[in-house]
Amino acid sequence: MKKSVETIRGDSEGIAYELPLYHIAGTAPDAPSAYIQAALHGDELPGVVAIDALMPKLREAESEGRVRGNLTIVPRANPIGANQLLFGASQGRFDLGTRVNYNRDFPLLDRPDVALLPGEDVPMSSDKRLKARLLKLSLGHDIVLDLHCDDEGVAYLYVPDELWPAMADCAANMGVDAVILWSGQSGSSFDEASLHPYLKMPRKEARLESRVVTTVEYRGVSDVYSTVAEADAQGLYRLLVARGVIEDVTVETRQAFEGVVAPIDHIEMVPAPCAGAILYHVNPGDTVKAGAHIATILRAPGEDGGRVEVLAPQDGYILTRRSHRATRAGDDLVKLVGVAPSSDARSGALEA
Ligand SMILES: [Zn+2]
Repeated sequence: MKKSVETIRGDSEGIAYELPLYHIAGTAPDAPSAYIQAALHGDELPGVVAIDALMPKLREAESEGRVRGNLTIVPRANPIGANQLLFGASQGRFDLGTRVNYNRDFPLLDRPDVALLPGEDVPMSSDKRLKARLLKLSLGHDIVLDLHCDDEGVAYLYVPDELWPAMADCAANMGVDAVILWSGQSGSSFDEASLHPYLKMPRKEARLESRVVTTVEYRGVSDVYSTVAEADAQGLYRLLVARGVIEDVTVETRQAFEGVVAPIDHIEMVPAPCAGAILYHVNPGDTVKAGAHIATILRAPGEDGGRVEVLAPQDGYILTRRSHRATRAGDDLVKLVGVAPSSDARSGALEA
């Protein structure tokens, strides 16, 4: 395993960010290659600790000559966002300088050619520079995994329509609970930018049936535990074995995915009707019926009518809920995966 450190120039002279990455050269030139990154949103750590737990398995496989395909690992993909604090609170989602979400506005290339990306000499802000660099590092890999997390949630994947159901084995091997399928545009998120060049190619050349691109939501932002990280690392390892990047006869891989699968327009982002304290009545992973109590918003403590009930708009599955308990009117309370399309479906990426 070879470590190298990429440098991203900062927004003023004298400032630079370090991006450590790890590379293992595979032994079989025709084997699929994999790229894994975590914490593109700088403060999302479940993927970072999963990668840490995965590394010893990769080193062992390498020492035994079992790594067939090239592997590139970026454990902390966003040193700029990881360094942002506002009054003591981490601000890893949006770049404070440009106000742009770190998982939006990636360059959409017409073909998988790094020469199409802006060069180092192009004047641009550091977040744009970072995005171009991450795309450059990931381009050309058959398997691209972008590890994120939600507020509080189950483990789930965003998978492009074009790659489903071919990616069902990935969901099964990773051991996630749900898969959300999306198509079209998602605001030029990293996963969209990773797949986009291949959608422009002739079908045969693009090899979509063997391509893996996914945003992985490893539960909630506080689900950072060694046992969970170990299980997630096992899942990642199993995927790499299943797809032929690593050889390991001791690992039993899975084929069929038995979790929840739904198109993104089935997601209800149930908003809070008023401001107040959130009392949740559901947990991520719960199944609910239409009209079930999802939460109570305590609007006016101690007053008649001071509690406002929030009901499930349709039958479904609770994918996530918020990690904070103080809500404003209109803030989303849960992501509920409905059995039918949402009447209020929001197109594109939700908030990955
Ligand atoms: Zn994220």
